[in-house]
Amino acid sequence: MIKNVCVYCSSSNRLDGHYFMLARQLGRSLAEGGYRLVYGGGNVGLMGELAREMHTHNGFVYGVIPRALKNREGVAYDIADELIVTESLRERKGMMYDRADAFIALPGGLGTLEELMEVMTLKQLGYHQRPIVIVNAEGFYDPLFLLFEHFKEQQFVRESYVNLFYAAATVEEAMDYLKQESATVSI
Ligand code: AMP
Repeated sequence: MIKNVCVYCSSSNRLDGHYFMLARQLGRSLAEGGYRLVYGGGNVGLMGELAREMHTHNGFVYGVIPRALKNREGVAYDIADELIVTESLRERKGMMYDRADAFIALPGGLGTLEELMEVMTLKQLGYHQRPIVIVNAEGFYDPLFLLFEHFKEQQFVRESYVNLFYAAATVEEAMDYLKQESATVSI
């Protein structure tokens, strides 16, 4: 059963409004679906929007933030139900990974990409079999999928790489997939 969903997403406040809408949609859907949020503990960008929306709909928020970020004014989501402070980024990523039953990537930048690539790589190597969902709203991740196809054509990844993740065009699709996986996957 899937209970704790780790979400990777942008920390930027400068994005177009539709990205924030997407984060709110996911926050609301997760909370209403009875899932708990595991995330980077930030109050900024899509991360903050997601966490606040979880709370608006009585969801549970578990954040893990490195001390360096926690000490920066306004960056941490201090009212998370559980906010774990780690000494390093690596330790933080490990704690998020350990807690999660499934992973979702919303649009994001380098931090999001790095987190997503790590869980995909670990899955490729057989360290876990947990669901990974990439929310490809309005084709945001199409350039990444093109890169993956290039890797495949040049034999850098196997054709089966497509089984590492599920690309959802909308938050609804992502939630449907989680629900379906929740019924079949034993974590
Ligand atoms: P980015 O996509 O570069 O904006 O990075 C976002 C991802 O990296 C999130 O999923 C977080 O886990 C982490 N991260 C980056 N910046 C912050 C921040 N200011 N506060 C908390 N987490 C952050």
